[in-house]
Amino acid sequence: MSKKYVYLFSEGNENMRELLGGKGANLAEMMNLGMPVPYGFTVTTEACNQYYADNETINEGIRKEIFEYLMKLEELAGKQFGDPKNPLLVSVRSGARASMPGMMDTILNLGMNDEVVEGVAKLMDNPRFAYDSYRRFIQMFADVVMGLNKAKFEEIIDEMKETKGVEQDTELDAEDMKVMVKRFKKFYQESLDEEFPSDPKEQLYRAIEAVFRSWNNQRAIFYRKMNDIPGDWGTAVNVQMMVFGNMGDDCGTGVAFTRNPSTGENKLYGEFLMNAQGEDVVAGIRTPQTIDQLKVIAPAAYDKFVEICSTLEKHYKNMQDMEFTIEKGNLFMLQTRNGKRTAAAALKIACDMVDEGMITKDEALMMVEPKQLDALLHPQFDAEALKKAKPIASALPASPGAACGQIVFSAEEAIAETALGHKVILVRLETSPEDIEGMHVSEGILTVRGGMTSHAAVVARGMGACCVSGCGDIAINEEEKYFEVKGNRYNKGDYISLDGSTGNVYGEKIKTVPAEISGDFERFMNWADERRTLKVRTNADTPRDAQQAVKFGAEGIGLVRTEHMFFEGDRIKAVREMIVSKTEGQRRKALSKLLPMQRGDFEGIYEAMQGMPVTIRYLDPPLHEFLPTSSYDIAQLAKDMKIDLDELKNVISGLHEFNPMMGHRGCRLAISYPEIAEMQTTAVIEAAINVNKKHPDWNIEPEIMIPLVGDKAELKYVKDVVVRTADEILARENIDMKYHVGTMIEIPRAALLADEIAEEAEFFSFGTNDLTQMTFGFSRDDAGGFLNDYYEKKIFEQDPFARVDQKGVGKLIELAVAGGRKTRPNIKLGICGEHGGDPSSIDFCHRMGLTYVSCSPFRVPIARLAAAQAAIKNPRK
Ligand code: PEP
Ligand code: MG
Repeated sequence: MSKKYVYLFSEGNENMRELLGGKGANLAEMMNLGMPVPYGFTVTTEACNQYYADNETINEGIRKEIFEYLMKLEELAGKQFGDPKNPLLVSVRSGARASMPGMMDTILNLGMNDEVVEGVAKLMDNPRFAYDSYRRFIQMFADVVMGLNKAKFEEIIDEMKETKGVEQDTELDAEDMKVMVKRFKKFYQESLDEEFPSDPKEQLYRAIEAVFRSWNNQRAIFYRKMNDIPGDWGTAVNVQMMVFGNMGDDCGTGVAFTRNPSTGENKLYGEFLMNAQGEDVVAGIRTPQTIDQLKVIAPAAYDKFVEICSTLEKHYKNMQDMEFTIEKGNLFMLQTRNGKRTAAAALKIACDMVDEGMITKDEALMMVEPKQLDALLHPQFDAEALKKAKPIASALPASPGAACGQIVFSAEEAIAETALGHKVILVRLETSPEDIEGMHVSEGILTVRGGMTSHAAVVARGMGACCVSGCGDIAINEEEKYFEVKGNRYNKGDYISLDGSTGNVYGEKIKTVPAEISGDFERFMNWADERRTLKVRTNADTPRDAQQAVKFGAEGIGLVRTEHMFFEGDRIKAVREMIVSKTEGQRRKALSKLLPMQRGDFEGIYEAMQGMPVTIRYLDPPLHEFLPTSSYDIAQLAKDMKIDLDELKNVISGLHEFNPMMGHRGCRLAISYPEIAEMQTTAVIEAAINVNKKHPDWNIEPEIMIPLVGDKAELKYVKDVVVRTADEILARENIDMKYHVGTMIEIPRAALLADEIAEEAEFFSFGTNDLTQMTFGFSRDDAGGFLNDYYEKKIFEQDPFARVDQKGVGKLIELAVAGGRKTRPNIKLGICGEHGGDPSSIDFCHRMGLTYVSCSPFRVPIARLAAAQAAIKNPRK
């Protein structure tokens, strides 16, 4: 039998979302539940995919099937398409598997033409209604199908109102509407060089095609990328008999939620307009009434609606978002879906539904989107203020939260301005480790270059600071302290606002409100902890970040990037001394200055973690990153070190690398200069001894992690230095303390040879930032610039630096997991790349059987929930 591409609502059910889309499946289900749903049919998502497979055409077979179903619909409705005496009018709406509110298109009143409109006028005895419906249809068809700008039609309406001297659309009468239809059609004809199509079948066919096309409009592609929705799902199209909310005062239309979507309160929440059609409620031309008022205006319809709401919520075991229309006092349901809600509402609804006995804890855990929790941890924009604001640019949502402040262009300015009590946004071409203090005091960070794992993004997420990165629309002049975007200039001191959750940049001040954490949050997170098997650690470089992570529920540190400690205060001087040293003796002298500082840092971190495991990663970046760049700083360093300026310049240029990410970094540094590893080992071991003395019950066992290993021999060389140094200290102090040496798997070769490497490594941590960079051959700092072209051209759907590429990088991880376990069955396996905080990557890590994920402090709650969801979906044996 050939494939079936079209289903009547009565042939579907809620389990057919993949084929019928969410809207189609739910309309079918409501019909099965005996609810008043206008008749209709659904053209499947497979038809949409076939449309694309056939070079964006609806093939003959599917076309035939659609028209067969149109005949069935005519029969059910007792009306005929295009028959002026008894016309069938339909709505055509998109409906993907996952709801994508407002992303795709809708057309109402389809089937209207010059004859039908007259028929409708007579039948309803209401010419104004008939012509108003017709002009709305022309407007929507022109917009959705032909891409004609809606605004032009609005201009025509405004002109007519002005000529008549009236203010409201409702004051235009039937004759005006007739004139309007004429003018709309004329405009259509002039703009497109074709007549408005009068054959309802052609209208329908073209409308369905347009909905399929809208699956790949910019908005929809962007929404899918944001929400992990695959492009090959396609959208279904629902063709449904029109019911009219705009036929008189006993008609109306509205939208409602079974519970309050902002607060979660268990009370029907919604709005409606009498004598109106769908888009009027959304468009905000007239102010809608609240749903309670419907009780007074249309009591019978209201009672029926309340009963339906309760049935639907119990049936779907979730808060529902519904659309309805009342036609001549009769209620019709046009849609139901799980309602979008704020994070606070999501938690309250989940907890309340468990208390009401409606759902289990597992169901509650599955009901909340992990990424949403983030909103509870950062300040947010005031919702009303945000609605009024218009973005001036949009880039990568690198670190969430809302930020508003005055522009500064350097870390020094940020520090100076905040010292004066100003709130600032740091705008940079890109940030470097030297900017860290300035980043810290800023409300938010905006960079022109850099992707999701660029320095700015990683550091900002670690701090919980808002950051928008890779904003290529901006032309920046850091020297003269201004930037330009779309022809407008923004100077130092001007206010801008950043939304780190959407990547939007606003050229104005927008009010922010602090985040609120309600009691439901903790309760809910405890359920998640009971359920998950993956442990959740954090990436933290300072006691402060570590404490923050512990507050959010971290169970250890998976990555301390020791280099981040090298920039604070006077340390950078000692670091620079070490780098420009010519002899081992000089280097050791400089390192001895660093030792007490580093030991103190580790003590602070151990204290903050209160005995929980801490993995300390040894020095990783190319050394030149620590060297001064401005001539002033270079001269200063020469003076401090009492060396010749030209000689220093030579050293600096000698350290220049053409490809530093693949240059002298990671374990390669310790191979060239083992004394660095010695110093770091001394600091780690002595810090652990000191803290253990203070807290004997903590029993700290240091975990030392060697980065960027590609061969067992590399690891062995550095490990030998570590073991020799550590054992000497332990022997000297006569202390029996265990410590562990492991490595990062971040070079493809290490993944391939993981069985050999595990002979030396006690644990692996997947450094998926570098592993992604080296597997794809994409620079993690520069790829943001061209990956957009990949998304636009549908080569990639997702940023591989944000979400683990399960196919390629994932294969290497799988190999490494198997290799590691072959040599060491109980090897501890973690991930500390940025992917460790991404829910879909966490799901993958769970399935791979990793021991823990490690992510920035502000993503710890997200990871806890994502790990619980992964465990519910794939229970471990
Ligand atoms: C990684 O490469 O994934 C990693 C965690 O190390 P870094 O980001 O410091 O290179
Ligand atoms: Mg790395």
